[in-house]
Amino acid sequence: MTHQHGTHWGEHVALSLVIPVFNEAATIDLFMARINDVFKDEALLGLEMVFVNDGSTDTTLELLLERQKTDPRVRIVDLSRNFGKEAALTAGLQTATGQVVVPIDVDLQDPPEVVLQMIARWREGYEVVLGHRVSRHNDSWAKQTSANWFYHLHNKISDQPLPKNVGDFRLMDRCVIDALQTLPESRRFMKGLFAWVGFRTTHVDYERPERVAGESKFNGWRLWNFALEGITSFSTDPLKVWTYLGLLVSVVSFSFATFIVVRTLLTGIDVPGYASLMVAVTFLGGLQLIGIGVLGEYLGRTYIESKRRPVFLVRRVHNAKD
Ligand code: UDP
Ligand code: MG
Repeated sequence: MTHQHGTHWGEHVALSLVIPVFNEAATIDLFMARINDVFKDEALLGLEMVFVNDGSTDTTLELLLERQKTDPRVRIVDLSRNFGKEAALTAGLQTATGQVVVPIDVDLQDPPEVVLQMIARWREGYEVVLGHRVSRHNDSWAKQTSANWFYHLHNKISDQPLPKNVGDFRLMDRCVIDALQTLPESRRFMKGLFAWVGFRTTHVDYERPERVAGESKFNGWRLWNFALEGITSFSTDPLKVWTYLGLLVSVVSFSFATFIVVRTLLTGIDVPGYASLMVAVTFLGGLQLIGIGVLGEYLGRTYIESKRRPVFLVRRVHNAKD
């Protein structure tokens, strides 16, 4: 196996962990203690931890700066405000210099031990090693079912299927990171982009534990919008379906019209019909509004994308000895 890019020397591997943090003062020390524990025997591993401070309003940044004084492996990308996890990841991946890069949550829901298994698979020649959750029993019933529905629908209509039960936690070779860098869109559904770039892929299974401390930042509404983002980013089927639905409705209404005209000619006019009229009017009205809504989703996204604004803004990158 030959590696052209990134920091890499002999048996040594340069590993970058990319860690988006948003109000995580409660978890950072727990995370770093686990990292020290897991990687303590890995003398051949050059490690950097790229923390992306996603506009935290608590003491996250101060804490990270404090830890950096005693641990030069800590690098901090300080964003100018909260841009969301997808943007924070993008910022971190751009900053990471390692030969292999692993985005990882700070709440220890992505167990650092798994990274060692990922590296072992990478050494076999894989460029992407997905962290695959063997069960979702820690998630609520609602989250499990909605996730299932989302994957089902998404994989039916998008060109590139998303692997199920796989999050952002994955190892990527430098060549994958470079490929991601070439994708120009500013609305970044990372899971989809990761899948879209391809490369030789395998996975390792892991059990996803509960968050170690603090609170989840994703509520139902955020997840719904996240799902919409995923679907609209990778498929235009929701736009096309209206053509066929319209055709179907036209055919049905044309046959019905013929029936009514013939019946009126044969038996004369009879006044009742309020119910059927009302149903047809409201049903079609609803259908049209949904169609316009779907159009709006895409139009809005096209509009935002057309502004070509940057995905994130950096206040400052803090490296040790700065
Ligand atoms: N996160 C972030 N920006 C946000 C929301 C979350 O950087 O706007 C980070 C958060 O600090 C954590 C990771 O993304 O490291 C996953 O967030 P969380 O654990 O809240 O999500 P969940 O595991 O509940 O899906
Ligand atoms: Mg979490």
